[in-house]
Amino acid sequence: MRQFWPILACFVLVTGSGAIAQETPPERIEDAAPISSDTRPPARPESDTPAPPSEPEERSEPAKPREPAKPVEEAGPPAWKDLRETDQEYASCRLALSLLGSVYEEIPPITDPDDSDCGIARPLRVTEILPGLELEGGAEMRCDTARALGFWARDFLRPAAATLPDSPRLTGLRLGSTYSCRARAGTGKKRPKLSEHALGNAIDIAAFLFDNSDPLPVQPREDTGDRFEAFQRSARATACLYFTTVLGPGSNEAHDDHLHLDVKSRKNGWRLCQ
Ligand SMILES: [Zn+2]
Repeated sequence: MRQFWPILACFVLVTGSGAIAQETPPERIEDAAPISSDTRPPARPESDTPAPPSEPEERSEPAKPREPAKPVEEAGPPAWKDLRETDQEYASCRLALSLLGSVYEEIPPITDPDDSDCGIARPLRVTEILPGLELEGGAEMRCDTARALGFWARDFLRPAAATLPDSPRLTGLRLGSTYSCRARAGTGKKRPKLSEHALGNAIDIAAFLFDNSDPLPVQPREDTGDRFEAFQRSARATACLYFTTVLGPGSNEAHDDHLHLDVKSRKNGWRLCQ
């Protein structure tokens, strides 16, 4: 047997050597893995790759039955009702008018069929704001507005008028707009808010009337340097002590020929005087 072993081994070597020669050497096999991937057909350029079907942005869900429409939220009370004075406030205000000597009458509540926000809950029709100081044609307003006008006229307008040439007595106020259901003027906005005139809070003064001199119209009087300019400037400045809004010539074009005065209530008592 020992004699045949080398022969057998040789035979095995000879027959096996053919197989070994045809196989890739082991070290080459390790390299073969990546190489084998190279044998795959080259990837197609992306542009050629057909895009996967795009998913819809929102999956369409089965239609739900519609919920019944919610009832429209109820609006608050009309603006004019919000301003209704308490009995105590109203009594206090009327007492002030009595002390001032105002001539007025109480009239029924004012409302407007075209705009439910317009109106005055407890309107007064004032003809004389002080004894002998007429509101030309009379005017409807809230008591607060009348009271502000009365104190301003008593404490500043009349004494100031006495400083004009010939010391005239202030006997009247020519009015522009008083109560009027409308939007604010001169704001330039497409949908301006409700004017304070629509609530009885505002009054426009177009001219001051005197007993023995010509009316003094409100107009641009910048740097005319006379007493009339001084009077108009003083009137406008002191009005801000009683009214919360004072506009006039120079504020905007809509106010070039009158003083707009109102008692609009703002947060922290803020005033707009121009
Ligand atoms: Zn006005």
